[in-house]
Amino acid sequence: MELKPGLSAFVTGGASGIGKALCIALAEKGIFVTVVDYSEKGKEVALLLQKENLKLHSGSKFPSAIFVKCDVSNKGEVAAAFEKHLETYGGLDICINCAGIVTSVPFQQDQTDGTRSWRHAINVNLVAVIDCTHRAIKIMEAAKKPGVVINLGSASGLYPMITDPIYSSSKGGVVMFTRSLAPYKKKGIRINVLCPEFVRTDMGELVDMRYIDIMGGFVPIDTIIKGTFELITDESKAGACLWITNRRGLEYWPTPNEEAKYLLPSSKMRKRFASVTPTTVHIPQSFEKVIVHTLSNNFRGATSVVRAPLSLPIKSDHVLLKIIYAGVNASDVNFSSGSYFSGSKQEISSRLPFNAGFEGVGLIAAVGDGVKNLKVGTPAAIMTFGAYAEFAMVPSKHILPVVRPDPEVVAMLTSGLTASISLEKAAQMESGKTVLVTAAAGGTGQFAVQLAKLAGNKVVATCGGKDKARLLRDLGVDRVIDYKEESIKNVLKKEFPKGVDIVYESVGGDMFDVCFNALAVYGRMVVIGMISQYQGEDGWKPRNYTGLCEKLLAKSQTLAGFFLTQYAHLWQQHLDSLVHLFSLGKLKVTVDPKSFVGVQSVADAVEYLHSGKSVGKVVVCIDPSFSQQTAKL
Ligand code: NAP
Repeated sequence: MELKPGLSAFVTGGASGIGKALCIALAEKGIFVTVVDYSEKGKEVALLLQKENLKLHSGSKFPSAIFVKCDVSNKGEVAAAFEKHLETYGGLDICINCAGIVTSVPFQQDQTDGTRSWRHAINVNLVAVIDCTHRAIKIMEAAKKPGVVINLGSASGLYPMITDPIYSSSKGGVVMFTRSLAPYKKKGIRINVLCPEFVRTDMGELVDMRYIDIMGGFVPIDTIIKGTFELITDESKAGACLWITNRRGLEYWPTPNEEAKYLLPSSKMRKRFASVTPTTVHIPQSFEKVIVHTLSNNFRGATSVVRAPLSLPIKSDHVLLKIIYAGVNASDVNFSSGSYFSGSKQEISSRLPFNAGFEGVGLIAAVGDGVKNLKVGTPAAIMTFGAYAEFAMVPSKHILPVVRPDPEVVAMLTSGLTASISLEKAAQMESGKTVLVTAAAGGTGQFAVQLAKLAGNKVVATCGGKDKARLLRDLGVDRVIDYKEESIKNVLKKEFPKGVDIVYESVGGDMFDVCFNALAVYGRMVVIGMISQYQGEDGWKPRNYTGLCEKLLAKSQTLAGFFLTQYAHLWQQHLDSLVHLFSLGKLKVTVDPKSFVGVQSVADAVEYLHSGKSVGKVVVCIDPSFSQQTAKL
């Protein structure tokens, strides 16, 4: 939701502290505000807002702000406050439930029943939040217009606050209540919770300063406003819990990986992603595969399809995999040119011919005597050379068990794993940052944008073409830059003057320079690849990066490289996490619709990827009979 004049907001606890600051910040955007508070000080806040917006709202039939005196623990008064808001502004766009109190009597000594009791604290901090959220949802549903509710939780709702267990429990309740309401997004109503550590307000001032110092000081009110506005404006946030500390800034909790540990897939997804019943696999006497016979980055010229015998029995610790889908990668042309082997040109040439293809999924056709943990007929993936083939013989330790041998799973291998592992390890991505992804609608880019978004970042993505831009918008990218329509350099300069915090860069050449120059102070840029350089006339030539060290030094930046093969120890863990996010419907996998069938079509598929026309992951269906069988089921 764009914060623009004419919207109306209802803010409880608006007379002081965070509530008052939010009322002022909303009014500065020209938003009509109802200041709700039990304290008469709310009247002064409303007067201040009226003064603030005197010019902006002159001639408007609505007052800039009104004050409604209301004890939020009294349901009659709450109902009347909402009625007054509707009567005045005719609708409700934003509801911020900010009213909250600490318990004034230590829990063990609490014998009171009145406004100093623990029961009253729960009523104000939790029951009233439920009441107000409930009323706001009803109003927004009836109006059939989008709306946002922001509930004020607290960092003490995420971890215990031993000095005030009642406050902590009430805020924990607010967090879980809010997160459970995420499905309202389908109706256009987004309910989110903000969990700041201590802010310098009347409540914050009560806290022992030694404690505040340990936390790294008070969280500035501007950071709270920034977080609130992010939750209001970012349409992807529903049920989101934004944790704000002085030490780490804005951070969404839980992280997608954390969430993936305990969420179960929906029944629709379980059905779609149900595991395959083991079946026997016919093993022929020979099979077709793509081999590299000449070192060249012209994949078609470097390779040919050959027939090879299938020699059985297989070695004791080996597995024979029947490949059903193989994944196409930008770096197939680097592999065919020998760039991924070390040694002299002569040493590399002595390896010819060698098998091509980095990744595939299929069914286990046979296992050696020594393989006890893998069953014939079950689905598995490989990320070893030789996947552009009808069969691949690999050591059993290279087998990655998967639930289904589907094209989406192939996409999660090299492309998905590169994004998942590099963003965690090389980019050290957290949340609340601005992440720039290049070639974002491609095989790996599509994962990077979604993982960055899921982790609670603002995502900027580059692509060339309308279809790609549409996909990226559907994936929740905040700012799509279609370089065929506008200049990436100009957009970054104008809209991100402070720079971006993380860059996931895979294009290289001029794109590298543009992105590097847009990196913020402390920024981290991860070099994933350089697709624009792979197919030069005489092969891939190293570039000069004049002044690189000087630039890094001047802005305390980090430039990191990432090569997936060096992270094999993390593949299974990250693959499981991607598959889980996919099965929960939190991660979308786009496979390019262009059909490539059989090993004969591999060169076409590689050229198609390098044409720049592909959207999502390019996949070759090595054996169409499997998908036809499942389609019939
Ligand atoms: P991809 O992104 O699907 O590649 C296709 C996209 O790249 C195109 O749609 C186009 O997107 C862009 N592109 C293609 N040719 C280009 C050219 N000559 N100049 C500029 N842009 C071009 O391919 P991918 O397999 O996922 O690989 C993407 C990058 O990640 C590659 O650099 C690859 O080497 C790297 N990668 C690295 C690792 C690793 O371990 N480090 C692993 C996997 C992939 P737009 O025109 O829309 O930008």
